[in-house]
Amino acid sequence: MSELEVNDVSMIFDTPDGGTVEALQNVSFNLKQGELLAILGPSGCGKSTLLNIIAGFLSSTSGSVSNGSKRLHGSGPDRGMVFQQGALFEWMTVAENIGFGPQMQGTPPEEIKKIVDDLLETVGLQDFGHKAIYELSGGMQQRVALARCLANNPDIILMDEPLGALDALTREKMQSLVLKLWKETGKTIILITHSVEEALFLGERLFVMAPRPGRVKQQYTLPFAEAGLTQDPREIKASPEFIAKREEILSMIWEMEEEIMGNNQAVGM
Ligand code: ADP
Repeated sequence: MSELEVNDVSMIFDTPDGGTVEALQNVSFNLKQGELLAILGPSGCGKSTLLNIIAGFLSSTSGSVSNGSKRLHGSGPDRGMVFQQGALFEWMTVAENIGFGPQMQGTPPEEIKKIVDDLLETVGLQDFGHKAIYELSGGMQQRVALARCLANNPDIILMDEPLGALDALTREKMQSLVLKLWKETGKTIILITHSVEEALFLGERLFVMAPRPGRVKQQYTLPFAEAGLTQDPREIKASPEFIAKREEILSMIWEMEEEIMGNNQAVGM
């Protein structure tokens, strides 16, 4: 069992005007194999920076990230990324997209076919393997993106607003798919979202981040993701417990946004 450890990570960017931005300040946390962490917070609080450091696309100014006993430097096959949209290979079929990672690793064709067929079924696209990407709806494309990520069998899946571009109904269906994949695969998942409702519903753990400097302001452990595996999502989201948490977090984010607006006005932005 591997455990992701983010240890005292800070990130300072230089800005074009010669100043600096403290995008992350002393962020530390551990995630056990199979935990699902949602990260929420106003724009500019460092969510993407944190995800990109864990993915290995960015090097932190200080601190470290480890997966189990392995200290991480740069990207690696133990971490997979799912983006909001546009990251699929448009000129390949659905099956070719999903099989791309295993093919690059030199997996034999018959094994690739099995991986692809299994994953097409897992994400509910059994009859779509031969389709071109442009023939699919946005929701279906995100199903392919999830399957393509799973095909590489990473320990940790990093999702940057994966459902952000979808209409409300498709988004709800996809949330249930994310929960199903989480439970069936036992992967560790970190998911960034701007939707308070989505963060509450999917985050077994939830971080609310604050900006300037970017940091984890509040942490929650929540029952809704586990409940979502067996209960109707609409009922969960309409429950008094869910609504109370949603209002608590919305107020917290509102306050932060007001503070940011106030600061910006003070410096004439
Ligand atoms: P979020 O994803 O929460 O919106 P980001 O991680 O994108 O926040 O950004 C955090 C802060 O770091 C912001 O103030 C942003 O402007 C700044 N930032 C991000 N990337 C860079 C960069 N490459 N150069 C300079 N500043 C950056």
